[in-house]
Amino acid sequence: MRLRNITGSKDVIAQSPMVVHDPKQYKGNWQKVFENSHPVRIEIGMGKGKFIFQLAKLNPEINYIGIEKYSSVLLRALQKMEQEPLPNLLFIRMDAEEIAEVFGNGEVDRIYLNFSDPWPKDRHAKRRLPSAAFLSRFQCFLRDEGILEFKTDNESLFRFGIEEADRAGWKMVKVTYDLHNDEKMSVGNIMTEYEEKFSAFGNPIYKYIIKRP
Ligand code: SAM
Repeated sequence: MRLRNITGSKDVIAQSPMVVHDPKQYKGNWQKVFENSHPVRIEIGMGKGKFIFQLAKLNPEINYIGIEKYSSVLLRALQKMEQEPLPNLLFIRMDAEEIAEVFGNGEVDRIYLNFSDPWPKDRHAKRRLPSAAFLSRFQCFLRDEGILEFKTDNESLFRFGIEEADRAGWKMVKVTYDLHNDEKMSVGNIMTEYEEKFSAFGNPIYKYIIKRP
């Protein structure tokens, strides 16, 4: 998702108390940022933020951080959250390629990837968020028992993710090829913007949960 450049989006983001600027300085200290000892869970590539906002609202005892690469997209999330700021939800604008410089060892409890960009060309495979290249970055900061949840309607990206997880030594915990009709895995499912759009076209939604090595 890349919205057209929105004039002033960088200024709005720079002034927002919901956005953590220069996040690398908080590596190892994210619970202090939230001023509590609750677990920290992150969504990478959160888009307009509907999913993480609803999660944060439902779970005030968990800290959430939404990460998004583009200012124009993050701005949309901020505009929505301004109506109802939540103390347990913060945002970072950055490229996830730098993520291991932002979170310290064992500091993150769970990672969500939702409808990640597919990067269909082979030469761009390392840019795919479920790739082994990203999993090795995630391993630097996901706690030992931590899990990663990935959902998408893109079958080839999903199969790629399964292969990469296996190659990188992650363990499959749960998998479904039709989330919305899966009696167990659909319980408590929160739909993302893309999930609403693509399931309305009749596309099945795939989801797996993997545990780090
Ligand atoms: N997760 C949302 C959903 O399911 O509705 C948005 C999905 S959209 C297809 C993918 C989002 O991930 C876009 O907003 C894009 O800018 C963001 N993104 C892609 N690569 C990223 C990266 N390397 N770091 C941070 N965000 C990224």
